[in-house]
Amino acid sequence: MGKVAIVTGGTRGIGRAICEHLKEDGFTVVANYGGNEEKARAFTEETGIAAYKWDVGDHQACLDGCAKVAAEVGPIDAVVNNAGITRDGTLLRMSYEDWNEVMRINLGGCFNMAKAVFDGMKSRNWGRIVNIGSINGQAGQYGQVNYAAAKSGIHGFTKALAQEGARYGITVNAIAPGYIDTDMVAAVPDTVLEKIVAKIPVGRLGQAHEIARGVSFLCSDNAAFVTGSTMSINGGQHMY
Ligand code: NDP
Repeated sequence: MGKVAIVTGGTRGIGRAICEHLKEDGFTVVANYGGNEEKARAFTEETGIAAYKWDVGDHQACLDGCAKVAAEVGPIDAVVNNAGITRDGTLLRMSYEDWNEVMRINLGGCFNMAKAVFDGMKSRNWGRIVNIGSINGQAGQYGQVNYAAAKSGIHGFTKALAQEGARYGITVNAIAPGYIDTDMVAAVPDTVLEKIVAKIPVGRLGQAHEIARGVSFLCSDNAAFVTGSTMSINGGQHMY
């Protein structure tokens, strides 16, 4: 059996492509998902990859979920914190609940999952944690103070945890995707999307597998010297 990888929010969109690439790389892959049973069923039927439901924003659910995966599949060697939501609105229109929910799932989920796996990785002297941030966490985005703050937090979380993991063979990195053609972006009105695409130098949205290839590299042994980094995959939309 290959090393075990969990991909949160792995049953559709970018997460699904990540699952497929890690499987091709030889990992025994498990997908987590939040509640869309139909997508999860189709995912498992089509890929042969097991899907486990829990809310990554729930600390105890992450501890229990990861313990279950470890017992049923094997010790967890790699985690891709990919699950994420949007609850957009300008500050004046954004509710406190929408602020909290995005922080709880997008940023809290990274903490909860890392807490569940870090000690085991440390004891085996090998681990890979890849956190999916966002171009909007790097550059900000109108109407997304919650999402931009959570994603920006992911980048800080990554650099801090990388320092804790380095001596134990655990690398912690982030990927900051630009606009990728998934359900999340399908929710953006066409007129807004046209303006966004006009600002992407390569002139198109990204594809989920273009993010997955980056994750694949960061989870490989070839990336053992890469830690605390953020890989921007955004068609040139934001450079620094
Ligand atoms: P999708 O909306 O297509 O999929 C989101 C995934 O996250 C689903 O599998 C969903 O599960 C899961 N999820 C949501 N909430 C929870 C939860 N509380 N617990 C567990 N799983 C949950 O998203 P994308 O594929 O577009 O995005 C994936 C990641 O990439 C996100 O973190 C997003 O912020 C980030 N990103 C996306 C960009 C894009 O352009 N698409 C750009 C930059 C970053 P279920 O199916 O059960 O609902």
